[in-house]
Amino acid sequence: KDVTKIVVVGGGAGGLSVASQLEHKFKAKGDIVIVEPSDKHYYQPLWTLVGGGIFSRKDSERNEKDFIPKGATWVKDSVTVFKPEENIVLTKDGKEIDYDYLIVSTGLELYWDRIKGLKENLGKNGVTSNYSYDSCEKTFEFIKSLKAGNVAIFTVPTTGVKCGGAPQKILWLCDDYLRKHGIRDKVRLDFNSAGASMFPVKKYSEVLDKMAKERDVNQNFAHNLVEIKGDSKEAVFETPQGTKTVKYDMIHVVPPMGPSSIIKNSPLADPATGFVNVNKETLQHVKYDNVFSLGDTSNLPTSKTAAAITSQAPVLVGNLINHKLGLPLNNKYDGYTSCPITTSYNKIILAEFKYGFEVSESFPFDQSKESYFPMLLKKYIFPTAYWEGMLKGRWFGKNTLFNPVKTPEIN
Ligand code: FAD
Repeated sequence: KDVTKIVVVGGGAGGLSVASQLEHKFKAKGDIVIVEPSDKHYYQPLWTLVGGGIFSRKDSERNEKDFIPKGATWVKDSVTVFKPEENIVLTKDGKEIDYDYLIVSTGLELYWDRIKGLKENLGKNGVTSNYSYDSCEKTFEFIKSLKAGNVAIFTVPTTGVKCGGAPQKILWLCDDYLRKHGIRDKVRLDFNSAGASMFPVKKYSEVLDKMAKERDVNQNFAHNLVEIKGDSKEAVFETPQGTKTVKYDMIHVVPPMGPSSIIKNSPLADPATGFVNVNKETLQHVKYDNVFSLGDTSNLPTSKTAAAITSQAPVLVGNLINHKLGLPLNNKYDGYTSCPITTSYNKIILAEFKYGFEVSESFPFDQSKESYFPMLLKKYIFPTAYWEGMLKGRWFGKNTLFNPVKTPEIN
C-alpha cells in the first residue's frame, strides 16, 4: 500500500507536535488523522503566570482548528475503545477508525472529585487551582485579597502531577506579591505536600528547601489533602499523625491526576501504572509494534512536561519512520524534561534533568541559582516557540539547533 494511515489520538501538545512532524515527512504518502474532542487548545504552562496576574487566561487559548496541520484530517470526537489486535479505535459518536500506525497522546485526567468538597468550592470560598483554565484567574484574585492575619495553603497530591514544579511556582509568586505589598510578614504561607521533598532532583530540592526556610514558608510534608469545607474555610489533611484540620483564607489545590479510565482499561495500559506501556527509549508500545505514545499519558518514567515532549516527538517520529522502512529503531529518548520554577515575579530556577533525575542543564551557568534570563524565556520566548514552532513541527527544544533527530526520507 502506498499511503500510510496514522491515527493520532489527542490533539494536545504531544499529538499536534507529532502530527505536524509526520505531515512534513510523509506529505502525500501519509493519511494523518487526529481524533480530538475539544474546539480549544490551551498552552497550560502559561496558567502559572495567569495565576500570578501576569497574563490573562485568554492568552493561553487558541482554536484547535488553526493548529491541525494542513493535509491532516481532524475527527472531532473522542476515542472510547482501543482494539490494537484489530488495528482500530472506536469513538464516542460510534465511528470505527482503522490505522497502520496509532499514536496515543491523551494527556492526564484530573481527578477533582477525589478530594471531598473540591469541585463544589473551586473558584469560591478562597479555593483555587492553576491546573484548570476555569480557575487559574481566580488564583490571582484570591492572592490580591490576602490581608494581615491570613493563611494561604499550597497543596501537592499523592499522585504524580504534570509539571512537578507547578504546585510551588504559585507559592513563590504569592510570596513575592505579598512582599511587594509590604504584608508578607503578616500572612502565613503553608506548603502542604503529600510528598517528602520540595523537588525530585536533589540539586534543586536543596536550594528550594533553603529558600522555604529563608522566606518563612512552613513546609509540611506527608500532608495529603482529603477534604475542603468551603463554608468554614477549613482544609482536612491526612498525615502520619492522623487527620489534621487547618483554617485557611486561600488554598491553591493541585488535584490528584492520572490516566483516564479509557486508557487504564485498554490493552495498551501498563498494569502497574495504567499509563500507555511504551519502551522508555524508543516510545514504541511494548506489545504492539505499530503503536507509539508520548507525553503525559505515556508511562515514560520522567516528569511530565511540554518540554519533555519537545524531545520525545522527534524520537517517536524518527522511530515510526524507521519501523515503516524496516530499519532498526535507533532514535533514543533520554528522559529529558524541564521545569522552570518561578521563584519570584522576575526570577526562575530552570530545572533540567533526564532519566534517573540526572541534571542535564543547557546553559553555561548554574541553573539552580535563581536568574532573570529564564523568566524572559518563559514570558516571551517559550509561548511563541510553542505556538509557532513546537505545534507546527519546527521546534525541538534544546535539540532544535544542536542535536536534531535525523530521519530517512519517505519516497
Ligand atoms: P495535553 O496537552 O493535556 O493534551 C491531551 C489532549 O488529549 C487534550 O486535548 C484532550 O482533549 C485529548 N483527549 C483526552 N482524552 C481523549 C480521548 N479519549 N480521545 C481523543 N482525545 C482525547 N510543561 C512545561 O514544559 N513547562 C511548564 O512550565 C509547565 N507548566 C505547567 C503548569 C501547569 C499549571 C500545568 C497544568 C501544566 C504545565 N506543564 C508545563 C505541563 C504541560 O502543559 C503538559 O505536560 C503538556 O500539555 C502535555 O501534553 P499532552 O499532549 O501529553 O497532553
